[in-house]
Amino acid sequence: MKIICIGRNYADHINELKNNRPTEPVIFLKTDTSVILKNQPFFIPNFSNDIHHEVEVLIKIKKIGKHIDPKFSHKYYDEISLGIDFTARDLQSELKSKGLPWEKSKAFDGSALIGKWVDKSIFNDVNNLNFSLELNGNLAQKGSTSLMLWSIDEIISYVSKYFTLKIGDVIFTGTPSGVGPVNINDQLIGKIEDEEFFKLKIK
Ligand code: MG
Repeated sequence: MKIICIGRNYADHINELKNNRPTEPVIFLKTDTSVILKNQPFFIPNFSNDIHHEVEVLIKIKKIGKHIDPKFSHKYYDEISLGIDFTARDLQSELKSKGLPWEKSKAFDGSALIGKWVDKSIFNDVNNLNFSLELNGNLAQKGSTSLMLWSIDEIISYVSKYFTLKIGDVIFTGTPSGVGPVNINDQLIGKIEDEEFFKLKIK
């Protein structure tokens, strides 16, 4: 199982990090050991003093595909979830400034929270899902998949040009604005529409 992440997929988040708007999707990978095990907290790693939450809509691939035409992308996934792409922002900034790959800041153990999976058929339109992240009961991030620069179908097609998609692969589709630091004893709750998809403690 691989985890493929899309960066800079929401204009408001590109602006808050003062990044340039990409002309093609930005892709990076997370390791299999990045996934937080069920009912476990997120442990702040000792190599960062600035771990950020990035709430993102997730999709799970259900069939093998390569060079998928966007009009067939919908056949390659049934399930949707919500998760967090935890990012060691201080380390990422250092790596970016040196022109180095981001993996140490993005793919470390525990850097991927995957919430519960639901069938996409429960939603009227996957291209218009409202989602949010609460930090200690306060709204920290909110977004809508309607604001993505590249839609889910376009992402699946684009990613499959480079990587064969396999059953169980997970795609993180990018975060809206509002990213920020987490601290010990924080609690994060993620929702799509009004439904809770995860609750996580920071340790
Ligand atoms: Mg992200």
